Amino acid sequence: MHFDTIAAISTPMGEGAIAIVRLSGDEAVQIADRIFRSPSGKRLKEEQSHTIHYGHLIDPTTAETVEEVMVSLMKAPKTFTREDVIEINCHGGIVAVTRVLQLVLKQGARLAEPGEFSKRAFLNGRIDLSQAEAVMDLIRAKTDRAMDVALNQMEGKLSQLIGTLRQALIETLAQVEVNIDYPEYDDVEEMTIPLMIEKSTWVMNEIDKLLKTSSQGKILREGLSTVIIGRPNVGKSSLLNSIIQENKAIVTDIAGTTRDIIEEYVNVRGVPLRLIDTAGIRETEDIVERIGVERSRKVLKEADLILLVLNSSEELSIEDERLFEVVSGMDTIFVINKTDLPQKIDMQKVMEHAGTGKVVTTSLLKDEGVDELEEAIAGLFFEGNLESGDFTYVSNARHIALLHNARATIEDALAAAEAGVPVDMIQIDVTRTWEILGEIIGDTVQDGLINELFSQFCLGK
Ligand code: GDP
Repeated sequence: MHFDTIAAISTPMGEGAIAIVRLSGDEAVQIADRIFRSPSGKRLKEEQSHTIHYGHLIDPTTAETVEEVMVSLMKAPKTFTREDVIEINCHGGIVAVTRVLQLVLKQGARLAEPGEFSKRAFLNGRIDLSQAEAVMDLIRAKTDRAMDVALNQMEGKLSQLIGTLRQALIETLAQVEVNIDYPEYDDVEEMTIPLMIEKSTWVMNEIDKLLKTSSQGKILREGLSTVIIGRPNVGKSSLLNSIIQENKAIVTDIAGTTRDIIEEYVNVRGVPLRLIDTAGIRETEDIVERIGVERSRKVLKEADLILLVLNSSEELSIEDERLFEVVSGMDTIFVINKTDLPQKIDMQKVMEHAGTGKVVTTSLLKDEGVDELEEAIAGLFFEGNLESGDFTYVSNARHIALLHNARATIEDALAAAEAGVPVDMIQIDVTRTWEILGEIIGDTVQDGLINELFSQFCLGK
């Protein structure tokens, strides 16, 4: 495929020692040669691919020197986009890098749209859609683990798995066609139906396995959304502060327009915690009072994890009982705080309420018990097989939705096969499953979706 030559600033805008302007396309090298002058007078188009060159950029219209640069030359096809790629390493800082960008634009490059480099890599067949999406995840990854998952997906692990499932479906469909076209045996249905049942069952189970990873994958990607609740003065703010202080805050993100919530990300032993509504933490204490148990439950349902704080030095109150009711059935860690004071709380009762939930005792004043709490959080999360080192996780909402869809369709096929529905009807469902799975890797997606997806990327990617 042939596209025009695009350019963009590929490093974040801001102060930095170095910034990179990237060009991709048939004319990338030509454009660079027009503005690049090396001390020895070399021409980039005559140089070896995958080499780097020192020199200056000049504005050919004024002969003025614009920047001192290092230019990386990468010729097609072994490049990210499979096109000729030039990367101009210039001084960081918005003015310097913008001048370089303007210079290449004046020489005929077009400003890239967000994600257009990755889109070309996809359109030129270097990566599939799930890999391209992994590039985006990689940029946004908040912990090392999330990054491992993205890297793995970028390498094509998910694509391979999906490919295997699709291959099985296609082979089944082919076999069915053979059975129909060349009936060596009298009864085509008798031959074909068991095969379809066997293969559909296998594919369905494999999809289930993938979907099982999705909740962990989603958490790695988006953070374990965590809410701290408890009566006034039990130590909620103290708990929040100690979690934030002990752990590297990943981002403090103030979502402006859509949701008026302040979110704080911290990395707790590899688990990205997203502490929700931390600004409003003082309000959660009377949330139950205000809106009642049932509605509180609905509000808290959004959370992946609840930290319910109780005061060890006081007897359980009506409010505590109500909070137990609110969190029942949700993933909750019960934090019994203020253990430095004489104990008045009935631990037996706490244990009864907690059931299978974890109970941790802390004295936030003396900085005790926070380690145990973090262990409990990590334990809750890693109960699955995340630590097994296999990082093929489905984390992307689009992929998860498609997998659910594919599962429903193959289940239909299975039910139909078992109910003795004519083979050609079952074929439709199997084919549809193959198509839906194809959408994950971008094999059977429409242009509109592709544009939509890539437009979510950052500029210069
Ligand atoms: P919140 O209202 O639930 O957010 O509670 P705070 O975190 O503001 O704490 C209320 C009061 O309890 C503050 O004066 C804290 O210093 C104190 N506090 C918090 N944790 C402990 C603890 O473990 N032991 C003792 N003795 N006091 C604590």
